[in-house]
Amino acid sequence: MSVASSAATESVSEGSVDLSGVRSIDGVDVKGKRVLVRVDFNVPIENGVVADATRLKRVLPTISKLAEAGAKVIVLSHLGRPKGVISPDTSLKPVAEKMRELMPGTTVHFIGDCFGEEARRGVAGVKPGEVAVLENVRYYSGEEKNDREFAKALAELGDIYVNDAFSAAHRAHASIEALAHLRPAYAGLQLMAEVDALGRALENPARPVMAIVGGAKVSTKIEVLTHLVTRMDQLAVGGGMANTFLAANSIDTGASLVEPEFVATAKDIMARAKTSGCEIVLPTDVVVAKEFKPGVEWRICPVGAVPADTMILDFGPASVADLKRRLQGVKTVLWNGPLGAFETAPFGEGTFALAREVARLTREGKLVSVAGGGDTVRALNIVGVAGDLTYVSTAGGAFLEWLGGAKLPGVVALAKSGARAAC
Ligand code: AMP
Repeated sequence: MSVASSAATESVSEGSVDLSGVRSIDGVDVKGKRVLVRVDFNVPIENGVVADATRLKRVLPTISKLAEAGAKVIVLSHLGRPKGVISPDTSLKPVAEKMRELMPGTTVHFIGDCFGEEARRGVAGVKPGEVAVLENVRYYSGEEKNDREFAKALAELGDIYVNDAFSAAHRAHASIEALAHLRPAYAGLQLMAEVDALGRALENPARPVMAIVGGAKVSTKIEVLTHLVTRMDQLAVGGGMANTFLAANSIDTGASLVEPEFVATAKDIMARAKTSGCEIVLPTDVVVAKEFKPGVEWRICPVGAVPADTMILDFGPASVADLKRRLQGVKTVLWNGPLGAFETAPFGEGTFALAREVARLTREGKLVSVAGGGDTVRALNIVGVAGDLTYVSTAGGAFLEWLGGAKLPGVVALAKSGARAAC
């Protein structure tokens, strides 16, 4: 089940791409047209049923808007990693069934293939205002190879292309990248909101702008730290990563999680910060314990006085107060990663206090706040403030890549389509 391979000629290696070319579907005449909508329906399926429909609900506004405007909505997605082989456990059939439930009053078809005769015949039967979910694009190896021939076959099924899968936009795959060059290409409502929010916080923020980057390890966020340090006015480093920065400043961190092989990286990031006028913010006091488990004895101690047999598991109250004070003076904050091992009480207190303060300042109109990443979203939800921030990204890998300065192939392709149309 594969199509002849020919890598798409339009690559994604550009240095500077003007994202203002990304066009929204707002105002586009889609009446009677076949609109190919790439979404991320990579959802958990349990016993043949969608176990979490969050991702489906998130793209409903785009799909409904197009259907209501009289489009024939042809939905493309991947699910799991079938790697070019048909496997029933990664079929999108249960997703189509769930979409039927979520869109009462709209006809939702399921078409058992996204390529070839079955796909063509299925799409030909879709009427204006109806929705069709095609089978998993990853059943064809051409998808992950960004194969132009495969993309052409997909393009034959539609007149217009819409990408509403920001969480997959960092993948140069055929239905995300190559296809966007073959039809007039637009951003769905969710993707547009994400590009706007990240653009507002990172490309052209209201200043002063501060980033807070936490999490376990420096090694997983080197690009993010290196990119942010040249763009932010302040960069607060939290979580286990802060320990490696403290070690780079020759501060003893006891038995804490430290990555000795990344001490040099931390030093380099601090040197870059100096030359680009970014202040690096590290904790001044910390919460320590001998073990990392619930109910253990813990104490607060100044950085520099961490007992040899204890590990740093959270920011201390003075460090949290320092962050809060700094937030009063900034207009934009970008946040990824917890300040401590927040899953285990009481080591979530720093992260939760930060979440509450960011939410409060945003509610009061004093702060533009953009947060993202699985753990950060989880922490915001624990405190119940996710809805108060300016924007919360659930895009995971794509969000982190954007923070690291990568040009996301899916977004670049949309920008190029817009730029071509403007010529
Ligand atoms: P990441 O996936 O890199 O964003 O890291 C998130 C994880 O970092 C969470 O599971 C936290 O428990 C963990 N973490 C945060 N602070 C610390 C710390 N001081 N020591 C060990 N783990 C930490």
